[in-house]
Amino acid sequence: MRYSEFVDVYEALSATTKKLEKIEILAEFLIKIKEHPKWIYLLRGRVLPDYDEREFGISGQLSIKAIARASGVKPEKVVERFKKLGDLGNVAEELVGKKKQGTLFSKNLEVQKVFDNLEKLVSIEGKGAVDKKLNLIVELLTSADGKGAKYIIRTLLNDLRVGVADALLRDAISRAFFAENKEMVLRIEEAYDKANDFAEIFEKAVKGKAELMKIDIMPGRPLKVMLPVKVTDVDEAFRICGKRVAVEHKYDGFRVLINKDSKGRISLFTRKLDNVTKQFPDIVEVVRKYVRGRDFILDSEVVGFDPKTKEYKPFEAISQRIRRKYDIEKLRKVLPVEINVFDIIYYNGKSEIEKSFLGRRKLLERVIKQSAWKIRPATQIITDEKKEVMEFYHEALRIGEEGIMVKRLDAPYRPGRRVGYIVKMKPEVKDLDLVIIGGEYGTGKRAGGLTSFIVACRGENGKFLEVGKVSSGLKEKEGSEGTTYAELNKILQPLIIGETKEYVKIKPKAVVSVTYQNIQPSPRYSSGFALRFPRITHYRPERGKHDIATIEEIKLEFKRGHNNQRGIG
Ligand code: AMP
Repeated sequence: MRYSEFVDVYEALSATTKKLEKIEILAEFLIKIKEHPKWIYLLRGRVLPDYDEREFGISGQLSIKAIARASGVKPEKVVERFKKLGDLGNVAEELVGKKKQGTLFSKNLEVQKVFDNLEKLVSIEGKGAVDKKLNLIVELLTSADGKGAKYIIRTLLNDLRVGVADALLRDAISRAFFAENKEMVLRIEEAYDKANDFAEIFEKAVKGKAELMKIDIMPGRPLKVMLPVKVTDVDEAFRICGKRVAVEHKYDGFRVLINKDSKGRISLFTRKLDNVTKQFPDIVEVVRKYVRGRDFILDSEVVGFDPKTKEYKPFEAISQRIRRKYDIEKLRKVLPVEINVFDIIYYNGKSEIEKSFLGRRKLLERVIKQSAWKIRPATQIITDEKKEVMEFYHEALRIGEEGIMVKRLDAPYRPGRRVGYIVKMKPEVKDLDLVIIGGEYGTGKRAGGLTSFIVACRGENGKFLEVGKVSSGLKEKEGSEGTTYAELNKILQPLIIGETKEYVKIKPKAVVSVTYQNIQPSPRYSSGFALRFPRITHYRPERGKHDIATIEEIKLEFKRGHNNQRGIG
């Protein structure tokens, strides 16, 4: 198949915002490419399943070089057009397109060729990597037409902008192979939550329902975690979880899914599905020593503590361990961690997700050999007394935890779901996880670096909607706990994909927690809302764009604030 057929689909998808039209376009196209399940990744600008975090690793700079080479102009000319158009995809379309007009050219770029080169880009490392990458991109651009070049560049920069979110792809698969049967939409959703791989879902869906139903969780492959809903008091918690519940501390650390596969290999994944095994050899050792079982998946919160005073440290203190790729041995000594295991999802060759939480907890207590400051089942009580829950809550806060988690005893585990099987209760702080999608350069003291950041929430169809500009909260100097302006700049630099005079556009990847005073309507930002007095409290390396607040949550928070204000007034 020619790549131009993909380009036509991209164009058709971006020409409509209507969900049903998008589903129709996708469903029709899926039938055409059903012999090539992996091509489904291309519809979202990727060549790997969602759980594989490897990237093309192409910067704006490298794209500029590639466009220059492929279109036979000087890089300065590309930069000049980039400043004017603000989007490298459009620059590629213009310049590569112009070159092609002057030559005898037939559209001969094959999809498989695009896929192969993109796949190579992902795995190239080491010496000469940049040149090799450049060659692979130039090879594609020179055999593409203008429009093809646009989408190749956008794919490389993770900025495809055709609006193909998970839900849309799911509905399209269902429409293409199961005549849009409602039950099958659910089955596809469940299968996806277990596999995190659309190619696998697509391949099995083509073969029929029975094959699709065989997809199951597997140790060693990252899995989306189950998430809680928020409550404001114990009555609400009881209402959602039942009268007799399990209550646990809400630890202020970070979520780790601990996997041991049947070959005995241990791997650790964050909530964002990043593999952090290398960063935490201490966790691997402890798990090997203190957890029984041939293979398993444990769900846990890893918390840092001070090795001298044995006091827990806030998340921000250990967040550097997640990012750090060197000095790991040194870091594990100064920033040791304790593993609080609160769930078991798979054990000795069997998925445990349909078992009740109570049953899973019993299993978990059997397989973990508790060891102080190393590993333990999460502190838990089982009760139907409001008073006891409140005492437990205050005790959790007293020792510096974030609050409590209340859990339904008879509930199964639902990967990837924010269902009412778990609720969280913590003191009311107004904070939201948001993703940075733009920035502005500072003047004066911090001139040169980005000092203001445009933050966004999640809208429909994989879109990001701005909710404000935040320029405070980060640290000026290194040394103290917390992220500095310089560090965040370093993280954002390779993510810059567009630039006008005063504004840079940033790939939506870096997640930050932001506190604010209240939310107000605002025509300035694409969500229609703005956070007042926002401050960045944490950079969140372990969270991804799927973890951020949705527009529905922003609306809800706005309503809450509004009602409160009216109540007071
Ligand atoms: P939040 O990020 O505020 O929505 O809270 C959900 C997070 O709380 C989970 O992703 C876990 O990382 C964390 N957490 C801490 N303690 C627990 C616990 N006992 N059970 C489940 N999740 C917990």
